[in-house]
Amino acid sequence: MSFVSALIQAAYPPCCLLCSQRMADADTALCPACERGMPRLQPPFCQRCGVSQPGAWDAAAWCQRCRRTPLAFASARAPFVYAGAAREAIHAFKYRRHHRLGRWLATRMASVARQQMPISEVDAVLPVPMHWLKRRWRGQHSCALLAHAVAASLDRPYLPRALARTRWTPAQTALSPAQRFRNASGAFAASRLRARRVLLVDDVVTSGATAHACAAALRHAGVETVWVVAAAITPPPRTRA
Ligand SMILES: [Zn+2]
Ligand SMILES: [Zn+2]
Repeated sequence: MSFVSALIQAAYPPCCLLCSQRMADADTALCPACERGMPRLQPPFCQRCGVSQPGAWDAAAWCQRCRRTPLAFASARAPFVYAGAAREAIHAFKYRRHHRLGRWLATRMASVARQQMPISEVDAVLPVPMHWLKRRWRGQHSCALLAHAVAASLDRPYLPRALARTRWTPAQTALSPAQRFRNASGAFAASRLRARRVLLVDDVVTSGATAHACAAALRHAGVETVWVVAAAITPPPRTRA
């Protein structure tokens, strides 16, 4: 540690970004108690959208939602369930711009991708794009920050501009799953890529509508396979925590 960083650390000791508890390790973002409190996605997963399916006897099964709605991506995975401390941490990163927390989430996302996806086959990592107006308003592009860190951690090429949002879409939060699919449909366009297999990075996968629309645009542009990694996945309503 340099003299200057030692001085900074003495003046501003590292604190957990959720509970403000002082921590010994300046390289992490959350204290052990907050990390333990984050609900993790537990196997068996739906092989398509990645939600936990407690009690599913067939590990290769698709959840009810994925059997009803065919999706354009091969699989989605995330380290966390979008609930409790995991939701708080993602909000702190997205809306309070805690970049340290973004890097912390990206490390866990890369680890899940490494365990559950054929990373050696991934030609490029790219973010779910944000409309330029929203980016200006928010002041940061959270998926791009995550995707950049995930690409670096997995040592795969990062392509920030391969996919673009072609129209403004209203916020999805108040919409039903069917409305989300209509809302996201045709909102993205991909440039012709040499990459054949890509890893798409999102912050939260809820209905899968955005990831599906992005994957459809990429496949239209010649991409064969799209995998999705997110920081968290919202459980279907019946198992929502
Ligand atoms: Zn804490
Ligand atoms: Zn599913």
